[in-house]
Amino acid sequence: MFWHRPTQSSPAQRYAATLVNQFPTTGLSAIYADQVRHLIDYVKRSYTGEHRELLHRIPLIVLGRSDLDVCVTTVPGFPKEAIILIGPKYLISLHLMLRIGFWLFFHYQSVNESILSDLGYELVQLFASLTLHVPSQQTQLTRAVDDDAELRQSAIDQEALYDCIVFIILHEFMHVASGHLSSSAKRRSRLLRNRPTEFYRFSQECETEADHRAASFLFSLGPKPPEANPFLPPGTFRDAAPFFACTFIGAMDYLRFISEASLIKRFESTFRRADFTDVDSIVTIQKTHSTHPFGMDRWQGLMDAFGERMNDHNRNMAIQFAQYVYQGLSKLDSRSWTLLDNYANELLAQPTARFISNLNALAAIVNEQDSGTN
Ligand SMILES: [Zn+2]
Repeated sequence: MFWHRPTQSSPAQRYAATLVNQFPTTGLSAIYADQVRHLIDYVKRSYTGEHRELLHRIPLIVLGRSDLDVCVTTVPGFPKEAIILIGPKYLISLHLMLRIGFWLFFHYQSVNESILSDLGYELVQLFASLTLHVPSQQTQLTRAVDDDAELRQSAIDQEALYDCIVFIILHEFMHVASGHLSSSAKRRSRLLRNRPTEFYRFSQECETEADHRAASFLFSLGPKPPEANPFLPPGTFRDAAPFFACTFIGAMDYLRFISEASLIKRFESTFRRADFTDVDSIVTIQKTHSTHPFGMDRWQGLMDAFGERMNDHNRNMAIQFAQYVYQGLSKLDSRSWTLLDNYANELLAQPTARFISNLNALAAIVNEQDSGTN
């Protein structure tokens, strides 16, 4: 499926068509198709000058590959052309987190401690189901969320999902607009590869720049068209959306860190890496040896830059949402640990530790053709 077709045939357009043929594009529910179509129209109408022109040239594809989240890639042989790719890993799991988060937000008075441990378990299940294809089981929490008529009727989660997608697409778009995919940036990045500290710092700076430019643009859009959701006043969540997205990324980072810690601890004697056996040191290593900053650091960076300008409603929502998710993660119980432990064990059997790599399989293929990714 690919939604944004530039009017003229371009190298990006032709390359997008080959990717669509190469990878599955089905399997997503129609809601995501509508959301993405809508937002492309909206962003196109809002954008001015060179950015509008640039956006108009960039095809946007939603692929059905379960391990793909979101990335932007250049077109081999055409350094000025780019394509944005989105996969279900991001869309479906973010949507689940939003549904649970809103349910908690509305029912916080009746929320008890045990349901927060269900939240942690849900996130671990989701993590395992996405990476190992372990089927998820319903918990007390998912049942409550699914049965909530108010949530269903307001479609508040879809509204927030829409804004999160806008933010994340703008983030990818800002990589292009900021020249992060240019040949000079790629050359610099290649030169820094044998100096890992500087390489990762440079990559993380690019991510931060893309986040801040995307949020800044999102906040400047003004009220959304009222047809976006007739149940809600325009712009209800727009300013909170980048924080929801970063909370989600942070939750996934956290689970990745602790499953890695669990893996290394299990084989500690084999590897004799006693210094890597606690979560804190894993987190520190992962944070400084990753092309992307930790999700909650991205959250904090955005709050430092934009928090004062946000209205109270959006700021409170962003903060409470993150609190629920992290309280849920801090309450991981024996069920969750067992699942994470199995996950870590399974992972060792895999020839490549998928979760350690920031790039998904698709990006790797694209890399082989010597183009950039996020
Ligand atoms: Zn990025």
